[in-house]
Amino acid sequence: MRLRALAKINLGLDILGKRADGYHEVRMIMQTIQMYDVLEIRRTEKPGITLSVNVPFVPTDERNLVYKAAQMLMEEFQIQEGISMKLDKFIPVAAGMAGGSSDAAAAFVGVNRLFHLGLSEEELMKRAVKVGADVPYCIMRGTALAEGIGEKLTRISPMPKSYILIGKPGVTVSTKMAYENLNLEAIEDHPDIDGMIRDIQNEDLYEMTKKMGNVFEPGIIREYPVIEEIKNLMEENGALRAMMSGSGPTVFGIFDDKEKLKKATAKLKESKLARTVFATEIFNRNGGYTNDK
Ligand code: ATP
Repeated sequence: MRLRALAKINLGLDILGKRADGYHEVRMIMQTIQMYDVLEIRRTEKPGITLSVNVPFVPTDERNLVYKAAQMLMEEFQIQEGISMKLDKFIPVAAGMAGGSSDAAAAFVGVNRLFHLGLSEEELMKRAVKVGADVPYCIMRGTALAEGIGEKLTRISPMPKSYILIGKPGVTVSTKMAYENLNLEAIEDHPDIDGMIRDIQNEDLYEMTKKMGNVFEPGIIREYPVIEEIKNLMEENGALRAMMSGSGPTVFGIFDDKEKLKKATAKLKESKLARTVFATEIFNRNGGYTNDK
């Protein structure tokens, strides 16, 4: 079985406060894009889980979210056979694109299908949150509002068709560092998440992009000005808007025209500001893995 684990971007990311348990209360608009890792899963007679990954710096044991997800389902259903998994990563790692979470989502879907466990999307999502707050969303895919710690999901209308340019600079930001650089009381610019949802409903890409915002961005840009440079380059070359995704450092630009996307992609490559440059489009079908073969 071969599954595509699609990456996400955050069209809007707001943080409302810190809960008593230390987690932050968020409000984010999530959007799946057509950039993906590929997970292959096979049944083996020999019990246990084996995993190989095409990049050396991602763990292949229990620390990998794919492993955790598969193990969780196999233990619950007392599956006696084993599985062998091969993960090909194309989504940049630790980049704010939920790569690991999406891989875990693919493992949940894959194990459910492979062993005919019969779990619905909702039942999978309930288990997925134990692996990570973003994993239920990665099962659901499409356009959604995420609240709580990211696990409370509400489906919203699909985002209007648009093109996406991804630029990830060669710097690393941990989510922990992003929170450390954030002074909750000092946030002046909260994105208008509700306004964005209305714009999406009205299929108004232009109004929506005007309202985009990510409260992590100023703190991370202070640390890594290259992020601002990538944003500027994208906007000077036709992006309606460019913004950092999640806790960074990946920047995405939104385009309404394929030719402009092509031109900006070439400019970004030429500039050498980004280590990963990838031109793609949004995944604007709301509806999980059901349409995937
Ligand atoms: P998010 O947008 O949810 O913050 P991210 O893009 O910041 O995600 P990931 O790429 O998911 O972060 O991975 C962060 C860390 O998780 C890595 O440093 C890696 O060691 C570990 N990890 C565990 N499983 C995976 C996986 N399948 N793919 C990538 N990293 C993984």
